[in-house]
Amino acid sequence: MGISKKMSNLGTETAFDVLARAAALASKGMDVINLGIGQPDFPTPPPIVEAGIKAMRDGHHGYTAANGIPALRETVADDIFKRRDVRVSADNILIMPGGKPTMSFAIEMFGEDGAEILYPNPGFPIYESMIRYSGATPVPIPLKEENGFSFNAEEVLSLLNDKTRLIILNSPANPTGGVIAKEELDALVRGLIQWPDIYILSDEIYSRMLYDGQSHHSLLSYPEIRDRLIILDGWSKTYAMTGWRLGWGLWPDKLVPEITRLCVNYHSCVNAAAQYAGITALTMDQSPVQEMMTAFDRRRLLVHERLNALPGISCILPKGAFYAFANIQDSGLSSRQMQEKLLEQHGIATIAGTSFGDYGEGYIRLSYANSMENINRAMDRMETALKS
Ligand code: PLP
Repeated sequence: MGISKKMSNLGTETAFDVLARAAALASKGMDVINLGIGQPDFPTPPPIVEAGIKAMRDGHHGYTAANGIPALRETVADDIFKRRDVRVSADNILIMPGGKPTMSFAIEMFGEDGAEILYPNPGFPIYESMIRYSGATPVPIPLKEENGFSFNAEEVLSLLNDKTRLIILNSPANPTGGVIAKEELDALVRGLIQWPDIYILSDEIYSRMLYDGQSHHSLLSYPEIRDRLIILDGWSKTYAMTGWRLGWGLWPDKLVPEITRLCVNYHSCVNAAAQYAGITALTMDQSPVQEMMTAFDRRRLLVHERLNALPGISCILPKGAFYAFANIQDSGLSSRQMQEKLLEQHGIATIAGTSFGDYGEGYIRLSYANSMENINRAMDRMETALKS
């Protein structure tokens, strides 16, 4: 075969495989309840859709600048000030086709043979996949249930060495719904002062998805690391826009020419109409976002209560995003066995914790981006499954 060796290092995101298998089972007549894929079950709010249609009608059909249209980058800069209380220049913002490219490009930029990159485990599977693909060695930051799926800063700092190029953090987190404790972030940043050459990628795609009155604590709050900080965020989750492929990255000055070159090489620019729709999303009345979060919150409490009532299952209350990471260690099944049993025999799509890394063994991820009715039906089926 003629393809390069590094292709064998590239992993995947199992959620898409489970989605395809759930669809295949459904096409054979099985009633599958999908708690697998991580996307809001709401449509994109109408004003955003209208703005996209208007942009098409107004003739925005061509390429845009590789880094995105200026009006959108200015709007993102204003939004960062509004929500993270830090003034940034629109010149440091790169509009991307989704949240993912900011992470893939950052990993590509720093990863090579001999380099080490720290990443959360369990964590979004693309981190480890892209690190391996880049040739770098993935070094897991273990996220443990007893720490609320946050980390211990001392433990993270002990993993650093001269080969470390990049640290990836994600809060609120996929797949655990955990939030990194502020004191651990403070301690991590203090420790990072000793390591001025290490960059940080903070994946804040769930920054607007927090519960119980918490506010988002961005890595941008630390001026001492700002010249080596990359922030990833976007529209997919907050505005139910996963299929529009729209995200943004905030990059330090010295990396802006590098990331712009990667964009030109890979995708030229982001779909123009989606970019116009993105301006409307950030500037419109935000009540659709609040309504969505109110619905997620109700489902979060329901899924938490019902999971903890199941034999052999426990689950800590998720603090953010729309995932519950259920502990199945007393069920006698591995994560993969539980995923298979629930899908094939009971028509419930969930994702094995090991799809998010080795530290996910003993857990399954349930996305509660589904109706209360379907969550209740899924929990009834799980009860039957666990008793059989
Ligand atoms: N980062 C995390 C932690 C995610 O969970 C996801 C999507 O599930 C992404 C990034 C990618 O988002 P997008 O669909 O905008 O590429």
